[in-house]
Amino acid sequence: MISALMPTYNRTNLAFKKGKGVWLYTEDGKEFLDFGAGIATSAVGHNHSHLIETIIDQAKHVIHVSNLYRIPQAERLAQRFVEISFADSVFFCNSGAEANEGLIKAIRRAQNRNGHPERTSILCFNHAFHGRTLATLSATGNPKYLDGFGSPVPGFDHVELGNIDLVRQAINEKTAGILLEPIQGESGVNVVPDEFLRELRSLCDEKGIYLGFDEVQSGMGRTGKLFAHEWSGVKPDIISVAKGIAGGVPMGAILAKESIAKHLTAGSHGSTFGGNPLACASGNAVLDIVLEPNFLNNVVEKGHLLFTALQNLVQTYPDVFETVRGRGLILGIKGKLPAAEIQNAALYENLLTVTAGGNVIRIVPPLIVSNEECLEGVRRLAAAAEKLTASLKNSKVKATL
Ligand SMILES: *Cc1c(COP(=O)(O)O)cnc(C)c1O
Repeated sequence: MISALMPTYNRTNLAFKKGKGVWLYTEDGKEFLDFGAGIATSAVGHNHSHLIETIIDQAKHVIHVSNLYRIPQAERLAQRFVEISFADSVFFCNSGAEANEGLIKAIRRAQNRNGHPERTSILCFNHAFHGRTLATLSATGNPKYLDGFGSPVPGFDHVELGNIDLVRQAINEKTAGILLEPIQGESGVNVVPDEFLRELRSLCDEKGIYLGFDEVQSGMGRTGKLFAHEWSGVKPDIISVAKGIAGGVPMGAILAKESIAKHLTAGSHGSTFGGNPLACASGNAVLDIVLEPNFLNNVVEKGHLLFTALQNLVQTYPDVFETVRGRGLILGIKGKLPAAEIQNAALYENLLTVTAGGNVIRIVPPLIVSNEECLEGVRRLAAAAEKLTASLKNSKVKATL
């Protein structure tokens, strides 16, 4: 018989009762080092006192009122994002996919209102991930995720990442904008070179189309800048944000330049839950923490420490690992074994990781992880690799017998 919960996930047989910082604890008291952070979402770790006190206080006052009224928490959070980013205006929603849906609609609408109703296509890249709704699935373009769900939503083209000439050729009279992740997360932590982002910026300007970044995973301090695109110096026209934005409370956002945002007039887009007092209070609390002096610098430093330690690990266990990549605290180790096998071996050492495409193990700890905890995670990976190496040697011996 089917489980009461729809079987959309292959779940590990573990349930956590509580968390503290980078640690998660099961009912029977087992302790896990969480380098997955709920898929790069628990940005400030578990049970962060400022976040939970804010949530409790807000819940006691009012959780939800709808966007029929002013929401001071949302006004404040939007104002703060405007002050610290390229954006002039912000729309709040509830997830990454919903943020991307809004981003796609906003780009189409701005082209339409600027006298280009024919420009409705978004140019995306191979191996992208933009979400699971019908439109964002089409933007994702992965045939595995589209299987059985009917024809993809029209209006999305895909091109190889990294070659500006191919991008130029792929732009046609219907192209409204370009959408990409500055670091492709789900497909294996592929960092898009800064130079390529700059080339995309000039190409978009030349063609009169918009440049959108999906910062759902790479944003909110994950790379050591508030948004990953800041490393390149490129100013996008619009970005989507979610995952870490409210520290695990479901929330998404679109940040946009006025040139796009002004076309999302009253009644043109909406969301019942989007930007409610509870979510926005949580978002403000997360921002309080991420904007503390040195917080982002520490992410950069811990990223370097972890990157170097992981490189050593790869050298020590060449039968298990191939390379390390990523930026800040979104790192990927490409394995020579299937990612799930490495993930399982790490789990046996009570270390939680997330798999990604291309045999990659994603290392995305809460941003508040300490240096010592970074090294502890690497020690656990080493213990896992030690056992994997031993069992590889064993199976080789067996094969020759
Ligand atoms: C996770 C993710 C999404 C989808 O977010 P949901 O909240 O699951 O809808 C979109 N884009 C990127 C880059 C992501 O990592």
